[in-house]
Amino acid sequence: MTADSETRPLRIAILGAGLVGAFAAVALSKLPNVEITVYEKSQGIREVGAAITLTEGGLVTLSKVFDLEELEPILYRSPKHGHITRRHWKTGEYFKEPEPTHPDELKYSHAKAQRILLLEFILKHVPEGLIKYDHEVKGVDVKPDGATINFKDRTPVRADLVISADGIYSKIRRQFTNDKIIYKGAVAYRNVFDDSIVNDIPGVPDDVTVWIGKGSAMFMTRLTPGKFNVAAHLRDPPDVASKLKWDRGTGDWGKQRLIEHFKDWDPVIGKILDVMPESIAFPLERAPWLRNLVVGNRIVFVGDAAHPTSGVYGAGANMGWDDVWALYKSLTETSDRDYDLPSALFLFNETRVPFLKRVEEQIDIDQAIGAKYLATASDDDEWRKRIEKRGLSAKWITAHNVNLEFEKVRDKHFLDVFA
Ligand SMILES: Cc1cc2nc3c(=O)[nH]c(=O)nc-3n(C[C@H](O)[C@H](O)[C@H](O)COP(=O)(O)OP(=O)(O)OC[C@H]3O[C@@H](n4cnc5c(N)ncnc54)[C@H](O)[C@@H]3O)c2cc1C
Repeated sequence: MTADSETRPLRIAILGAGLVGAFAAVALSKLPNVEITVYEKSQGIREVGAAITLTEGGLVTLSKVFDLEELEPILYRSPKHGHITRRHWKTGEYFKEPEPTHPDELKYSHAKAQRILLLEFILKHVPEGLIKYDHEVKGVDVKPDGATINFKDRTPVRADLVISADGIYSKIRRQFTNDKIIYKGAVAYRNVFDDSIVNDIPGVPDDVTVWIGKGSAMFMTRLTPGKFNVAAHLRDPPDVASKLKWDRGTGDWGKQRLIEHFKDWDPVIGKILDVMPESIAFPLERAPWLRNLVVGNRIVFVGDAAHPTSGVYGAGANMGWDDVWALYKSLTETSDRDYDLPSALFLFNETRVPFLKRVEEQIDIDQAIGAKYLATASDDDEWRKRIEKRGLSAKWITAHNVNLEFEKVRDKHFLDVFA
C-alpha cells in the first residue's frame, strides 16, 4: 500500500468469524492505522458441542493477545498436564509413553476447552461492530490497486488486504486451486454433556485419554465447567459418511452405532455410552494444503482455508492462530512504511509455509506407519510393542514457537526486506 498512513488506514477484510478469523480480528485490531471488517456468512455464533485441545505452542500464541488468567476458567487441565494418555482398546491398560516434557509454566500446558466457550471468549475481545454477520462471500477479485469482495445478495466492498479465514470449504481457496475435498475414510462422533451423568460410573477417567484399537479410537475427557466429552473415530463407508453433517444430531442411530462398535472394548466405555445422550457425527475430510498462502499481495490464507485438517494432531486451530500471529508480526515490521504489503506478506509466507509443509508430510508418514507397521503386527503383543515404540508425541508440531520462527525468517531476509 502506498497511501499516506495519516489519511488512509489499511483496510483489512477478514472472511469468516470462526476460531481463527475471530482471533485475527482481535490480534490485527492492535495494529496502528488499520480499519478492520469481518464478514461472516452465518446469522450469529454457531459452534458444535465438541472439545478442542489448546497446545503448548497455541497457548503461547494466545498469550500474546489475551491474558491467559482470563481464559483459565474455561480450560480443563488433567492430572497429567493435559497430555493425552493412550490405552489398550480391550484391557484399558496404559501404553508406555515417551517421558513427557512440560513447559516451565503450567499456563502453557496442554489444555482442553469446549469449542463454543472458546469461540465466545475470543469473540468477546473483538472490538464492537467489526463483525458483519449474514454476509456470505462469493469470491474476491484481485487487482494491483486492491481487492473487491463479492457477496451473495449484497453490494461488493473494497479492501487493501483480504484474509481468507473461511474454513475447510473456503470458496476463496477453491477460486484459485479448484481442489477437491476428500473423505479421509473415518467419521467423527462427538458429544459433550453434563458430567453428572457419568460421575457415578466406576473408572470414569479424569485424564485426557484415548483407547486405541486397530482402525478406530475412542477419546474421552472432562471439560470445564462440569462437562464430559466423548469423541470416537470410526471407519465408516462413504455412503454412510455422506449422509452425516456436523450441525445435525444423529438421533438414536449414532449412539447405537457406538454401542455396537465398542461392545468388546474396555467395559467402562460401554457404561458411558449407555447413559450418554445422542451424538453428532460428521465425515473427516481433507484437501491439499496450500504451498503459497498469498495471492497477488492482496489475499492471505489462514486456518483451515490454508491447511484443511479435520483435527490432525489436535492442532488445526492452534496452527491457525500461529498463521495469524505470523501475519501480525509481518505487518508490524512494515507498519512504519505504510504497510509495505509485498514485504510483509513475503515474511508471512516464509514463516508459515516451510513449517506447514513439514506437518503435511508428517501426516502422510503417520498414515503409512498406521497401514504398514501397526496394522501388520502379527499378534496383540507385537501390536502393543509397536504402539509403544511409535510414541506419537508430535511435540515438534504442538510446541512450535511461531514467534521465534518469524524472527529467524526476518533476520535471514533483513537485507532484502529492510535495507
Ligand atoms: C473432529 C475434529 C476435531 C478437532 N480437534 C481440534 C483440536 O483439538 N485442536 C485444534 O486446534 N483443532 C482441532 N480441530 C481443527 C479445528 O476445528 C479447525 O482447524 C478450526 O476450527 C479452523 O478454524 P477456522 O476459523 O479456520 O475455520 P472454521 O472454524 O471452519 O470457521 C470458518 C468460518 O468461516 C465462515 N464462512 C465459511 N464460508 C464463508 C463465506 N463464503 N463467507 C463468509 N463466511 C464464511 C463459516 O461460517 C465459519 O464461521 C478439529 C477438527 C475436527 C473436524
